[in-house]
Amino acid sequence: MKTISILGSTGSIGTQTLDVVRANKDIKVAALAAGQNIDRLEAQIREFLPRLAAVWDEKKAGELRARVRDLDVRIVSGMEGLLEAATEPSAQIVVTAVVGMIGIRPTIAAMEAGKDIALANKETLVTAGHRIMELAAEKGVRILPVDSEHSAIFQCLNGERENPIHRILLTASGGPFRGRTREELRQVRVEDALKHPNWAMGRKITIDSSTMVNKGLEVMEARWLFGVSMDQVTVVVQPQSVIHSMVEFEDGAVMAQLGTPDMKLPIQYALYYPQRRFLAGERLDFAKLGQITFEAPDFETFPGLALAYRAGKRGGTLPTVFNAANELAVQKFLNREIEYLAITDIIEAAMEAHRVTEHPTVEEILDAERETYDFIKGRW
Ligand code: NDP
Repeated sequence: MKTISILGSTGSIGTQTLDVVRANKDIKVAALAAGQNIDRLEAQIREFLPRLAAVWDEKKAGELRARVRDLDVRIVSGMEGLLEAATEPSAQIVVTAVVGMIGIRPTIAAMEAGKDIALANKETLVTAGHRIMELAAEKGVRILPVDSEHSAIFQCLNGERENPIHRILLTASGGPFRGRTREELRQVRVEDALKHPNWAMGRKITIDSSTMVNKGLEVMEARWLFGVSMDQVTVVVQPQSVIHSMVEFEDGAVMAQLGTPDMKLPIQYALYYPQRRFLAGERLDFAKLGQITFEAPDFETFPGLALAYRAGKRGGTLPTVFNAANELAVQKFLNREIEYLAITDIIEAAMEAHRVTEHPTVEEILDAERETYDFIKGRW
């Protein structure tokens, strides 16, 4: 029997993780954590009976506490609550599926408590990757990728421990605006950007996919997870989202992992690694698919990807600035406060204005996040 905790249980990854739990009869849920959605969290508590549930919002936590009085569950709130959920003693694996840099502290706390991490929250690796990978080695805990591309790379590396990676070929669908010009993107509305051609995901990552910022974050995530340089990660546009990523070895051999776009596969693989289990759902039908095509990414129309390479290569606190500026800019776009193209303008301006701190501590990373927010709030 496995026991897991899920941070961000009410979101897209969180609910799909619970689908995997429901389909397998040998996983228990120790703790759940969510931001605001107490209706969904209450239903999850009643079905999965965790010992602990954390709600970010204090008032909502009080409301939920009253609602589940009939159950043996403790309701906690705020950052303290999130940290308690991350370190609930009975869990062996913590699924980090919160969105944004809020994931840094609970991820570190879970690792310090000796838990393996099934990592969806890429923002944590992008901003604090050096610290997370160091800590994983120090504590002997595993970081099991949930992001489909990184899970694909992880699967391609099975049995290749002695063989260095020559290059990672990180695939991208290209998002809903593939093939458009920058001029055409001027009029993009929130509704347009929220329509991803292949994947159903949370709102923030869907916008990030449309700007290709998500791919930039993934390049940085891959660099930490697999110990390669930014130059060893090449983005390949593969619009059908069938090849989830590839690894090229020293002899030129390329290994790829293919499948339908279903996040339950990488989630289940992370939870049961190295075992593969039956997973219900659609399978690849190559005859129906007909073809798989490839393109180079368009760095001009999607400057977010070029900025991510710049931030990742420079390192220090610059990836934090890239990420924090994007988080706030996407929030502003979703609130209809700025235009679509301003997202990457804001990231670039914040990066230009920043003085980089090398090898930042977690405190310095969180300071860089605050500074970036202050910089943007004074200007947009
Ligand atoms: P969603 O927006 O769907 O869900 C986010 C989750 O985080 C919700 O449960 C939300 O709670 C919770 N949350 C937000 N703020 C807090 C907080 N302060 N404290 C506790 N919980 C909080 O996001 P996704 O599931 O799409 O993405 C989650 C992460 O996984 C992101 O980092 C994303 O980049 C990554 N990822 C997602 C993929 C996908 O297919 N969706 C694929 C690969 C990676 P509530 O809704 O109750 O407020």
